[in-house]
Amino acid sequence: MSASPASRHIGALAHDSHDHARCVADALTKAATLCAKRGARLTALRQCVLEHVWDSHVPVGAYALLDRLRADGYRAAPPTVYRALAFLAEEGLIHRIEALNAYIGCGQADRPHQAQYLICQRCGSTAEMDASAVHRAIADQADGAGFNVTRQSVEVLGVCRRCQTSTAHA
Ligand SMILES: [Zn+2]
Ligand SMILES: [Zn+2]
Ligand SMILES: [Zn+2]
Repeated sequence: MSASPASRHIGALAHDSHDHARCVADALTKAATLCAKRGARLTALRQCVLEHVWDSHVPVGAYALLDRLRADGYRAAPPTVYRALAFLAEEGLIHRIEALNAYIGCGQADRPHQAQYLICQRCGSTAEMDASAVHRAIADQADGAGFNVTRQSVEVLGVCRRCQTSTAHA
């Protein structure tokens, strides 16, 4: 596919009201399929962590996840949660948002991508984009500098549409 669009706003709808149950169902189905295909073990605990990361489109930290797991009856310790998060990130099912030290579910885990994030500083809602032009620009600049990129993550902070509107009416 050479004619890929310059920019795809895959997660843009995340800020707006939508059928979130479908996001969760899709993510869990993809996770099960991918792990089965790769022979990776999606244990009950790992799946539970993944489900809680998908509680919303607001990135969630390890300790908040720990509380939610305990509320579900898991006697989980922090290292257990960190190991589950590392597994899920390794499989591309979640991403770590460095600016927030928190995790967000990936809705497109079944295809390789470089993500950029739009992070709302008011409500925390975070949308994932896959803007190939941004990715290419970084790769080109790095190439020119003889720099070997291991990983890239672009985190854009701002205010989402919903928060802008709610301020206008407040
Ligand atoms: Zn959703
Ligand atoms: Zn992703
Ligand atoms: Zn917001």
